[in-house]
Amino acid sequence: MKASEYPPYWHAEIETMSRDQMRQLQERKLRAAVRRAHGTAFYRRKLAEAGADPEDIRTLADLARLPLTTKDDLRRSQAEQPPFGDYLAVPLTDVAGIFASSGSTGEPTTALATAQDQQAWAERGARYFWAFGVRPHDVAQNMYNFQLFAGAWAVHHGMQRLGCAVITMGVGNSERQLQVMRRYGTTFTGMTPSYAFHLAGVAAQLGIDARRDLQLRSMIISGEPGASVPAVRERIEELWGARVYDWPGMQEALGWSGSCETQTGTHVAEDHFILEVLDPETRRAVGPGETGVAVLTHLEAYAQPLLRWWTDDYVVYSTDYCACGRTAHLLPCGIRGRADDMLKISGVRVWPSGIASALQELPGFGGEFRIVKDDSTVQAASGALTRLKLRVECGSGVDREPFAAAVAAKLKGVFNITPSVELVDEKTLPRFEHKTQRIVDERH
Ligand SMILES: [Zn+2]
Repeated sequence: MKASEYPPYWHAEIETMSRDQMRQLQERKLRAAVRRAHGTAFYRRKLAEAGADPEDIRTLADLARLPLTTKDDLRRSQAEQPPFGDYLAVPLTDVAGIFASSGSTGEPTTALATAQDQQAWAERGARYFWAFGVRPHDVAQNMYNFQLFAGAWAVHHGMQRLGCAVITMGVGNSERQLQVMRRYGTTFTGMTPSYAFHLAGVAAQLGIDARRDLQLRSMIISGEPGASVPAVRERIEELWGARVYDWPGMQEALGWSGSCETQTGTHVAEDHFILEVLDPETRRAVGPGETGVAVLTHLEAYAQPLLRWWTDDYVVYSTDYCACGRTAHLLPCGIRGRADDMLKISGVRVWPSGIASALQELPGFGGEFRIVKDDSTVQAASGALTRLKLRVECGSGVDREPFAAAVAAKLKGVFNITPSVELVDEKTLPRFEHKTQRIVDERH
């Protein structure tokens, strides 16, 4: 079958459903999800504490009666009743996989999945990859870290469900990755933005020109923000000669939204998740166009049901319809950033991904930077960041003084913050294959 002969959607009925029908579907699934959750000691306790009766939760408007579930709740449950906590809704005989978070923001938490959970990952993967333009004749190379990381497996299942020929590489071993891409004519890959830059650097050293020597057409770039940041996406597209798409998520809510071919944002998988966007302080719903924290009620979680999951991810949602014909709400910036790497400087919210985007637009940028917390930028008593200090790589042969001034002017223009800028030579800051830690703490 030629690419043009395939239908435009993976699951047309769901993807183009009217919003009213989608609401009814969500409400039907919500009642079942609340019943599943209420089967666990964890949610029986939480609902009782909040005075919520599961039978009263029937419509989307009733959601607000349910308590929020945070990462700390899960951590506490698993610490008190190791290793799985008291929110497992199925016997261990029904569990198909055990995974764990990286622990980048505290104690790692364990995630379990049944075969039905994995089918839901596969369905979302296939649906989004199809929206990226991937078809069954594609050769897909998965370069995510498989070690305990559920995301890599969600990508794997999605690629297989769609019908791709899947090459399971995992992250690292860069020369081999490139050899494999050439030998098997890889057309679709998945990796983190950090690794996309790293691997492009290795390719350049080996004299491989992505456009001439590879067949690559599309890439999922996720695991950290980047693919929905236009300047970062364009830079990766330029390096690889391929289109870049986002499929963000976390182990508790894998791939809950994803790009479509228009690259104008990520669509929410609304038949699998009910999205609320809440103000981080008042916890009230914010309107379209306003920044808030994504809160997800998982309608397709079987091993570990999750109601009103506080993702800690900041998003903006839009009620406009997308040109692709999919009716699901769109997050025009994907995930703007995580609460734990958000910086508040003189009242302004800044994310490392936003700074990356601004720097990518500057000619002469060496590709990497750090946000430096030290005694000159952090108020000792409160721990609050009072100034922004950046350590930025400067390309070789670039005039340093004008470049430093351009960095300061760019940040002033974008965030209304004037940073102090320290330049270092390009390729001197460490590159990470999985996730890049851009905030360095040098306080005494
Ligand atoms: Zn769309």
